[in-house]
Amino acid sequence: MIKLYKMIQLIDIKKAYHTEFDTLQVLKGVNLQVEKKEMVSIMGASGSGKSTLMNIIGLLDTYDSGTYLFDGKDMKELNNIQRSAYRSKNIGFVFQAANLISYKNVLENVALPLFYQDVPKKERERLAMEKLEPLGLANWAKHFPNELSGGQRQRVAIARALIADAPLLLADEPTGQLDSKTTNEVMQIFKDINQKGTTIIIVTHEEDIAAQTQRTIRIVDGLIQ
Ligand code: ADP
Ligand code: MG
Repeated sequence: MIKLYKMIQLIDIKKAYHTEFDTLQVLKGVNLQVEKKEMVSIMGASGSGKSTLMNIIGLLDTYDSGTYLFDGKDMKELNNIQRSAYRSKNIGFVFQAANLISYKNVLENVALPLFYQDVPKKERERLAMEKLEPLGLANWAKHFPNELSGGQRQRVAIARALIADAPLLLADEPTGQLDSKTTNEVMQIFKDINQKGTTIIIVTHEEDIAAQTQRTIRIVDGLIQ
């Protein structure tokens, strides 16, 4: 029998930050599941732990207790090297700021993750171009980030997040710095990407963005409501 796994399964995940004087219990036992090919949003007040949760899902940060299964595989079993390999193969990230490298052109920025995967230069550039075209950025490939608008920069960041064809895309307030027209364009891009089969999780505090996803997960007081 073929066993079907959820793409993401978090079971009673807890995470605290410790400062010199006290402990801040940010996640108090989070349970959530995301199916393959879903597009879901995460909402919650500022400081409620949305980024903490995304960083755990994205294997950028660790958790104190609980279980995280990705495609049925327990993430606790990975050592640091395996974790970053798993991350680059499976997860793309888009943040609020595009975080492009200013002295590299658009094509080089998008191709960069493949450099770390030892893909030869010509092939990196071919694949980067392939991601830029559908985002309307082909003519901007040789331009530098400071020559682009905010919306274009964010589209470059999306192309970079897609370069490894990872099955999961995490976006932490990706439209937080964009005007409403550009926000709509970026949301349309996410929907198109999702239609082609990529699972997407978007953190937002805008209800109308959350309404464009299939399901909204709300985090309150360190727990999923
Ligand atoms: P959100 O993304 O929902 O705004 P975060 O996950 O960024 O919330 O942060 C949740 C809480 O944890 C906040 O109170 C924040 O100040 C705190 N926090 C986040 N990262 C750290 C850290 N590295 N060290 C200490 N406290 C942190
Ligand atoms: Mg945040």
